[in-house]
Amino acid sequence: MQKVPPVSGQADLAAAVDQVFAGDGPLARAVAEFEPREGQRDMAAAVSRVFARGGVLLAEAGTGTGKTLAYLVPAILSRQRVLISTGTKNLQEQIYFKDLPILREALGLPFTATYMKGRGNYLCLHRLATWRDDVEAGSPADRLYLKLVDDWAATTETGDRAEIQDLPEDVAFWSDIAATAENCIGTQCPEYDDCFVTLMRQRAAQSDVVIVNHHLMCADAAVRQNAYGEVIPACPLAVIDEAHQLEDVATQYFGFSISNYRFDELTRDFERLFASREIADREGQLGRALNRVDDRARLFFSALALARHDYPPLANAFTGPGGEDRARISPDMLEPVREPGRYLLDALTGLEATVALARESSEDLHAIGRRAAELRDELRFLLDANDRDYVFYLEFRGRGLFLRASPIDVSTLVRNLLLDRFAATVLTSATLTVEGRFTYLRSRLGVERAEELQLLSEFNYREQAILYLPPRMPSPKTPAFAQAAAREVVGILTRTQGRAFVLFTSYAMLRLVQPVVESALDYPILVQGTAPRSALLRQFRETPHSVLLATSSFWQGVDVVGDALSCVIIDRLPFASPGDPVIAARIDAIVQRGGDGFADLQVPLAVLTLLQGLGRLIRHRRDRGVLAILDPRITTMPYGRRFLASLPPAPVTSDIEDIVRFFADAQRPA
Ligand code: SF4
Repeated sequence: MQKVPPVSGQADLAAAVDQVFAGDGPLARAVAEFEPREGQRDMAAAVSRVFARGGVLLAEAGTGTGKTLAYLVPAILSRQRVLISTGTKNLQEQIYFKDLPILREALGLPFTATYMKGRGNYLCLHRLATWRDDVEAGSPADRLYLKLVDDWAATTETGDRAEIQDLPEDVAFWSDIAATAENCIGTQCPEYDDCFVTLMRQRAAQSDVVIVNHHLMCADAAVRQNAYGEVIPACPLAVIDEAHQLEDVATQYFGFSISNYRFDELTRDFERLFASREIADREGQLGRALNRVDDRARLFFSALALARHDYPPLANAFTGPGGEDRARISPDMLEPVREPGRYLLDALTGLEATVALARESSEDLHAIGRRAAELRDELRFLLDANDRDYVFYLEFRGRGLFLRASPIDVSTLVRNLLLDRFAATVLTSATLTVEGRFTYLRSRLGVERAEELQLLSEFNYREQAILYLPPRMPSPKTPAFAQAAAREVVGILTRTQGRAFVLFTSYAMLRLVQPVVESALDYPILVQGTAPRSALLRQFRETPHSVLLATSSFWQGVDVVGDALSCVIIDRLPFASPGDPVIAARIDAIVQRGGDGFADLQVPLAVLTLLQGLGRLIRHRRDRGVLAILDPRITTMPYGRRFLASLPPAPVTSDIEDIVRFFADAQRPA
């Protein structure tokens, strides 16, 4: 096999990369179905350039361009450590288990790679030893699962819980023995040298390619601010794939959140220190300090729950559109909880001080003190609720009560905490542009100077797809829409013989359409929520003519190649609710700068979401199918043009019989 020589310098890297993608190059020789693609070569060249000279590359690579290999080859040949961050675990696994082995063989070049998940996936040996008695005292099922964990812990090299196939995903005690940053005592830990997180970090620090996901990358960047718990080693180069998801994930990790659950966990972990006799005196000062925090946290959250109903300024905030569970808050709305909040802050300060002065000097105890201080600082910030860079809101979910603050604009944070850490960064995805421009993404992620590359899909949408826009649909804001949508779905699916994803923007609409579709069609109907996502997808692939009715989680990262998926129907243009606190705050910020929240935020965001949903249809050169958008606003409203200008170039029709003709054409011999 021809080896690729190590390269250095811009010209050498670009030349070596280009050679790999040549028609007679190493990839063509090693991969049976490899076909040279111009777009893939262009992207690989652009990635090589930015890796060699530094800076940022924005690369939109439509479906079928082969973007993963286009960045992996320059990454490996650069001979520098490269961080690859993906939006989904699926893509992480595909890169590690499928693409890298192919490249290892094709390039004949030794390189190492590490695949890192979030810390919560790994076993904490220290917590397992500390809480063992507690788990053993639990239910018989817990004791059984503990035995599984014990047997596995003795042999595993990674500590990744995914290796224990028989451990249910929701086994309650896993959160007590997981290696989360919050509970980690770092270098003071007696298990530090054998710790799976330490080992993973060491492996990553010696690897050429480090594969993470955006959640871990952002969590790491967030803890880096206080230099505790970071696991990703320094990497000079980075590729952020599925970059259209980065703003959402960064919003989640660069914000603050206090909940009754966090206080329950603090209390539980502290109680365990007493139970394990690591701390002797439950009735002493430490025990009393803990009781005070526990009591006052209960009072505080009860007062908050009461105020939601009884205090008009707060109660009214929950009556707006989309405000049943989440509502934006201002400092005055927290008036009824000011006093219980102050008491809770005092109790947390008391706990921190008592821990600092305690005779016992266990590291686990210090970790509790540190957590108490963090909770206090975050609670104080959230109760003040007056930082103009954040939106403050209250959320009720199940038994949980969350007081949160999210950054309104993550662009500076993304730039400072992520992009500026790398000498060169590639931001890529199949959907980054709106109407052919990167303006929206640049503004949301704070990307100022960057090279841009837009590669059209390798698929021939003119031949492989049609876009059906039904005539005479009522406005989606009217009650008549659901019935008309159900009628159209039945009409379309009759002509496609099932084989479809029907993607809804809300559960409410799914529930209205579902009974009509079920009673009118004989095809197998699968519904999101009735089985885990992976099981539904498997069933969909294996059951001929099946139809999947689903909402947001199936709009992205789902890959069904072949005839099984021949139609994607979308009920409404997927506008984010202006009642959502974060969206509302972002709209306000744009308006204050003189912009238009709808045109500058909601439309581009909806365009990218729509393109992701429609992108499920054509995943291969031989795939053919129907895209259908039932929302009439795409043709009746002025902004509809922006959607149409961003869609793939499939022929548009409003004649439902064209669907029959489209599939009939495919049957005819060429
Ligand atoms: S170093 Fe942290 S994560 Fe690792 S075993 Fe110790 S406490 Fe657990």
